[in-house]
Amino acid sequence: MKLASYAACADTSRGRRYAEPAPTTRSDYQRDRDRIIHSVAFRRLEYKTQVFISHEGDLFRNRLTHSLEVAQITRSLARTLALNEDLSEAIALAHDLGHTPFGHAGQDALNDCMRDYGGFEHNAQSLRVVDELEDKYAAFRGLNLTFETREGILKHCSQTRARTLGDVGERFLNKQQGGLEAQLTNVADQIAYNNHDVDDGLRAGLLTIEQLQAVPLFARHLAEVRATYAALTPQQLRFETIRRMINALVVDLGTQTADNLLPYAGQSIDAVRALPAPLVEFGPVMQQENRALKHFLHENLYGHHQVYRVMSKARRIVRELFSALNDDPRLMPPEFYDHAMRAEQLSGRTGRARVVADYIAGMTDRFALEEHQRLFDLHVLR
Ligand code: MG
Repeated sequence: MKLASYAACADTSRGRRYAEPAPTTRSDYQRDRDRIIHSVAFRRLEYKTQVFISHEGDLFRNRLTHSLEVAQITRSLARTLALNEDLSEAIALAHDLGHTPFGHAGQDALNDCMRDYGGFEHNAQSLRVVDELEDKYAAFRGLNLTFETREGILKHCSQTRARTLGDVGERFLNKQQGGLEAQLTNVADQIAYNNHDVDDGLRAGLLTIEQLQAVPLFARHLAEVRATYAALTPQQLRFETIRRMINALVVDLGTQTADNLLPYAGQSIDAVRALPAPLVEFGPVMQQENRALKHFLHENLYGHHQVYRVMSKARRIVRELFSALNDDPRLMPPEFYDHAMRAEQLSGRTGRARVVADYIAGMTDRFALEEHQRLFDLHVLR
């Protein structure tokens, strides 16, 4: 399929940090995607969660299934808009690689622990995973991905950190945009988690259909489903409503974005990068409805008493792990200890703390729980 003029194109990519021969059977963005799928960090996503810790049930979303849902949404939109499907997929599959265990609670706790050492941002960490931490290629550190995939992974970033990141940090300093595939994946991420959190919240019994009637996007599609089918099981009712919500969001996003792109027909990716605001967006009505859905989830799911209790414990686990390992790095596996000591020689306590943060950020939920128990329960002698 012919790509639009403003789509990213593998043949005119800004390239990789270390030059490599072009792949023979696939494009450079396909190669990026394949490297991401073969990475260790990608496999860890299966045991990391956002809202529901893995021991709460096997069928809730984890970061792996979330990333696959984001990839599905972003690929179908990329195809509709004649953007680069392979690049969108690569960005979607990598976008959460830097997440700590225990979702945002884990990230907030680690950011607090790292306050004196430059902080912790999960987006910047996703980039760090693909640039530095994956360590298996002989010729370079990291996965040596293309500029466009790396740019897409770094969706937000503080100005201070942007200054340390070279080429991919520039757009934050110049207040410019990522390419359209990056913009698309960013919104596809929101569509995926808002909807799967409604689904998981209902399944977990933390949300009710009655409560969700207050969300216009949900109420409208629920009414449509009830008017179409006389008798449905709760599961069918939930799924039929949510699939309509996802579809409505995707169609609206595609339509509004196609309209926004009309004046840029024939222009290049750099022309859309230079704009002050993203072109991938919902129409005005859907923007409001999407905000209402998000607000509802904040109030009723992420702020739910049961979720709060688990997340409060998760924060303490991360804080205690950090303080034990940062005080005595020898408690980490020997390769991390060596690495921490080398980093300390180069950049003092900041270097040491960064290695501890990398180690903790790489943990799965289950490993963090078990490691906390091994370190703090004095009767567990391992
Ligand atoms: Mg995500």
